Amino acid sequence: MSFKTRFFRVINPLSKNFSFDHFSKLLPFETIIIVYHLVSDKNVKHVKHLFPYRSVNQFEKDLDFLSKHFEFIDWDDYLSKKKTSKPGILLTFDDGYIEFYDIISPILLKKGIFAINYINPKFIDNNEMMWRNKASLIVSEIIEDENFQDKMFEWTGNELKEIISSILSINFKDKHQLDEIAEHLEIDTKNYLKTNPVYLTTNQLQKLKNDGFGIASHGWDHPLYNQLSLTEQLENTQKALDYMNENHFLIDSFAFPFTDNLVKNQFFDSVFSQNPDLRVTFGAAGLKLDSNKKNIQRVPIEIRNYSVEEILKNEIIYYQFLRNTKKNRIKRS
Ligand SMILES: [Zn+2]
Repeated sequence: MSFKTRFFRVINPLSKNFSFDHFSKLLPFETIIIVYHLVSDKNVKHVKHLFPYRSVNQFEKDLDFLSKHFEFIDWDDYLSKKKTSKPGILLTFDDGYIEFYDIISPILLKKGIFAINYINPKFIDNNEMMWRNKASLIVSEIIEDENFQDKMFEWTGNELKEIISSILSINFKDKHQLDEIAEHLEIDTKNYLKTNPVYLTTNQLQKLKNDGFGIASHGWDHPLYNQLSLTEQLENTQKALDYMNENHFLIDSFAFPFTDNLVKNQFFDSVFSQNPDLRVTFGAAGLKLDSNKKNIQRVPIEIRNYSVEEILKNEIIYYQFLRNTKKNRIKRS
């Protein structure tokens, strides 16, 4: 468990007792950017073992809370640093899950709230599944499909736990292992994608764009950047930005898949010089400054079962704690 996770655990029961007004004065930035992945009332097998997603009801509660304390802004407002009466908030969604089209966009349109989708072009149209989704799907099938345990295996509870955690900890470089496990267990990810579309389609992206939503790059195929060489990082980023350009989506921002942890200044120098239209890149390390001024950190909301109010309170306290120890800025070499 990370230090931040432990910090949140300790602080959460205490911060609950104070109204958010006490905290909003301590917000270190005039505008914050938050990141979700999807919202669903269903059992989403390809996601449920990766992070806890919001139900429709929880998501609407989040939005009600945010409307009270923040002013939702759109992409032009963000770039022009529009002055807002309350702190500004920009909503972003990562990975291009189909739920944005089916569930989220109708809610946002009704409330007049803008959002950007950071997508991986490789998975648009559901021809292939992102490696982390494969890991979650395999684990779901092992746990939920009785056939697996009856027919093939006689695992004890502890063995099962170990198998699950080793599947979930396979990293980007070894992602081929997930295909091997899926094949071995006769889990057909391509067929799953056909019967349960996981990602947005080209048509849906165009419709979302016409409805006013932003579509931008999250890398070509959701790699873990610190496991790529600099050349691979740049190629993966460029391929996705070229797709955005060809499809007339946004080319002025890019959001790192997973994390920008350990990504070096050389990457930023190259990507900004090769793409003059690119204005900003986004990480997801929570409220934090970055030694690279064009790289902005977003606040991830899907952590444990915390509400957005709890997350923001904890982030604000954590930021003040980091500031006191002068660790509120990510340093890059
Ligand atoms: Zn992602």
